[in-house]
Amino acid sequence: MSLIPDLPDGFEQICCEICGHDDRMLLASRTDLFLGGDIVFHMHKCLKCGVIYQYPRPTSAKMVDFYPSEYQQYTHGVHKENNLARFFRRYGLQKRCKIVMKYLSNGRLLDVGCATGDFLSEMRLQPQWKVVGIEPSHAAAVYAHKEVSLDIVAGFLNNPPFAQHSFDVITMWDVLEHVYNPQVVIHRAANLLRPGGILIVNHPNLDSIDRRIFKNVWLGYELPRHLYLFPSNLLQSLMVKAGLIEITRKSVYGSHAATASSLMFIIEKRFGYGMFTQYLRKFIFSKIARFILMPYFKLIDYYRRGSNITAVFQKIP
Ligand SMILES: [Zn+2]
Repeated sequence: MSLIPDLPDGFEQICCEICGHDDRMLLASRTDLFLGGDIVFHMHKCLKCGVIYQYPRPTSAKMVDFYPSEYQQYTHGVHKENNLARFFRRYGLQKRCKIVMKYLSNGRLLDVGCATGDFLSEMRLQPQWKVVGIEPSHAAAVYAHKEVSLDIVAGFLNNPPFAQHSFDVITMWDVLEHVYNPQVVIHRAANLLRPGGILIVNHPNLDSIDRRIFKNVWLGYELPRHLYLFPSNLLQSLMVKAGLIEITRKSVYGSHAATASSLMFIIEKRFGYGMFTQYLRKFIFSKIARFILMPYFKLIDYYRRGSNITAVFQKIP
C-alpha cells in the first residue's frame, strides 16, 4: 500500500475498478508533461488483478481541465496539413484502415473517441463502408461534423444512440486508457457489435522497449489523461467476460512518434524549451530521422515491442 499525501481538490481515491481490490503499488509519478503545472500524478499497479491505474485521479468534472482545446488530438484535421505532412499522416491512417479490411471488406463501423475524424475520413474513402463516430470533446465533434461532413455523435459511450448488434466493426484508437470504468465501456461496445463483429483496440504496450528505457517519462503513462493501462492477458480476460476473443495482437503504427515524444520530454527537462530544443524536436520528428531509424522500429514492431499495441477481438458468433 502506498500513501499519497495532500489530496488536491477535484481528485478522488478509488479502489481498482477492475477487481474492486484496494491494495496497490506505486509505479510512476510525474507532472503533466504536455500542459505543465506542478501537480504530481501517480500510476499504481493493482496488486490483485495487475491493471495499472491512476491513483488518486481527477474526478470526471475536474478532468475537463486537462483536455483544453489545444490538446493535440483536437487541434485540426489531417486535411488542413500541408501536402507532405498530410501524405505521411494519411499513410498512418491507411494502416489502420488495412487492419479493419483484413477482417471485413464492408459494413458499418463506429470509431469511439474519433477526435476530429481523421481515421473516419480515410475509412470513408472505401465506398463499401458506412462510418460513424462518437467523441466526448464537443469542439472536436463539431469540427468533424461541420468541417469534414462526418456523421458524429457528441458524447461518451454511456447511452449511445445506436441499436444493439448494429455495427460490424468498432474501433478504439488510443481511447480505452482514457476512460473511467473501462469494463463498462468494453461491455457497451460488445453490445453494439453484431455476432462475429470485430473490436479493434490500440493501447499503450506495457511490454514495450520504450517503457523500459524511458520509465517515468514514457509516453504511455501520459498523466493525468491516461487512467488505465492493461497487461495483454488482463485485457484478453476482460474481453472474454464481454463475449469477445482475441484474434491477434501486434505493433502496427506510431512507434517512431511515440519514442520521439518520450525522448523530447527528457530533452525539454535537460535543455528547456529554447532554440536548441526546437531544433532537436524538428530533427527527431523529421522524415530523415524516421528513415534512418526505420530498421530499428520495424524490428521492435515485429517483436511486438513498440510503444503501442493493436489488439483485434471478435465477438463470439
Ligand atoms: Zn484490480
